[in-house]
Amino acid sequence: MNTQNPLHGLAGRFDAVVIGSGLAGMTGANYLAKAGHSVLLLEHHYQLGGLATFFKRPGGHIFDISLHGFPHGMIKSCRKYWTKDIADSIRQLKDIRFINPEFNIRTTFDRADFTRILTDEFRVPAERVRAFFEHLARMNYYDRDTRTTRELFEEFFPGRTDVHRLLLEPIAYANGSTLDEPAITYGIVFSNFMSRGVYIFSGGTDLLIRKMTDELKKNGVEIRRCCLAEKILTETGPGGVPVVRGVRVRDTRFGETAEIACRAVLSNANVRNTVEELLEPGTVPADFLAETEAVRVNTSSCQVYMGIREGETLPRIGDLVFTSDAPKFSSEELVDLHTTSRTYSVYYPETRPQRTTPRYAIVTSINQKFSNWEKLSPEAYEAEKRRIIEESFAGLEKYVPNIRAKTDWVEAATPLTVRRYVRSRDGTSFGTKFEGLKISSELPEKVRGLYHAGSVGIIMSGWLGTINYGVIAANKMALALA
Ligand SMILES: Cc1cc2nc3c(=O)[nH]c(=O)nc-3n(C[C@H](O)[C@H](O)[C@H](O)COP(=O)(O)OP(=O)(O)OC[C@H]3O[C@@H](n4cnc5c(N)ncnc54)[C@H](O)[C@@H]3O)c2cc1C
Repeated sequence: MNTQNPLHGLAGRFDAVVIGSGLAGMTGANYLAKAGHSVLLLEHHYQLGGLATFFKRPGGHIFDISLHGFPHGMIKSCRKYWTKDIADSIRQLKDIRFINPEFNIRTTFDRADFTRILTDEFRVPAERVRAFFEHLARMNYYDRDTRTTRELFEEFFPGRTDVHRLLLEPIAYANGSTLDEPAITYGIVFSNFMSRGVYIFSGGTDLLIRKMTDELKKNGVEIRRCCLAEKILTETGPGGVPVVRGVRVRDTRFGETAEIACRAVLSNANVRNTVEELLEPGTVPADFLAETEAVRVNTSSCQVYMGIREGETLPRIGDLVFTSDAPKFSSEELVDLHTTSRTYSVYYPETRPQRTTPRYAIVTSINQKFSNWEKLSPEAYEAEKRRIIEESFAGLEKYVPNIRAKTDWVEAATPLTVRRYVRSRDGTSFGTKFEGLKISSELPEKVRGLYHAGSVGIIMSGWLGTINYGVIAANKMALALA
């Protein structure tokens, strides 16, 4: 085999194969390798990280895709499952802004500051606010509470749609949840942020993924990029239950294929892709397949990347600026093709302190539905991309009047871009809705040796959720392999 081939020299057998190098896949692979197992990590893209990735453009521009903010819990997870060095590079974003027709506030996005805002600015009695936070702290996944977030908000802040907006809009960006989702999906993520605020990795996603890759290599993980897992191979085991026997992999450069034998697979591909595409038809029972097919995937995103010309600076307009022109918040308006809701992530030079020249960038994130972009003709698709670029500039001009003159690179990504790079169904930004968690966790009972880790069930999504889920799945796998 050609030495340039991504499959060149690859051993034919591993204890475990990990399909996909998103944060869950990389964390799971690292955990398994540290537990003493031989691990192969397959990634179809030429770059690792999945949605936690970056890209470079001429003019010295580096853009982060999903480094906008995660909860303080990442520090503990990174220290425990990655390295102290990675954990020590996590720093707080202290200037979160909300600007819409109902309110204009700046916050550090933690419990003390939110309590101040809710009592002083929204005039909610302090007792109500305290009761709300205490209720969230007591929420438990195992309570099987069927209440929705809408019902939760109505109970504590009846008729206060402005308060509902303040509480939900940032979380809708952080995990794609809506007012009609189970309240637990809101409560866990909101409480995670409220414990200490919003954080990012100082150094940028490129440095983070490099450090994680170094650690994986140090722990003996065999990493193969440009390698697409085409099928998870099974054989019939005791009691007629299918058992994993390997993975068929195709390199995306030369199109050659290989079969790798293994005792267990951790799939970091979307849970529906895993069951419906990576397994041969007929592998799982018909009722489990039907339940999987009924799982709703989460919504997707558009982004506009603006690179600021070398030598230019930006004023301090906030780290994360949630803007919207909608008179009232609605989960439908948030994902409408013509939504006016845009979040600007402003990357000041401290995002990458290692760079020799200070650089700035702005990334606009817009929640979107895959179906609205999929149906566009090529001409309409390009026109819509131009429209979201124009609207992002127009929105930003209110805070940085000469933003167009400062920008020397701009481009847009859509839900189709997301699907192309990570292959997830409908280009989902945050995996599946709540019901996907059941499918993901029951998978090893349907196919022995097959585990899933990655954005699922809203709770297990986002950087912290996926890293933690990678550990949970890999821990079960390591026990089974022992
Ligand atoms: C625009 C945007 C902004 C976001 N902002 C934030 C944020 O601010 N904070 C936050 O916490 N979260 C954010 N998220 C969500 C967060 O990025 C994801 O929840 C998380 O990175 C997902 O990790 P994952 O491991 O589940 O999967 P993914 O990142 O989707 O990784 C899956 C990997 O598997 C690979 N793969 C799939 N199929 C195969 C196959 N057959 N063979 C080989 N490889 C395969 C893919 O290429 C990919 O690398 C954002 C997401 C988006 C899209």
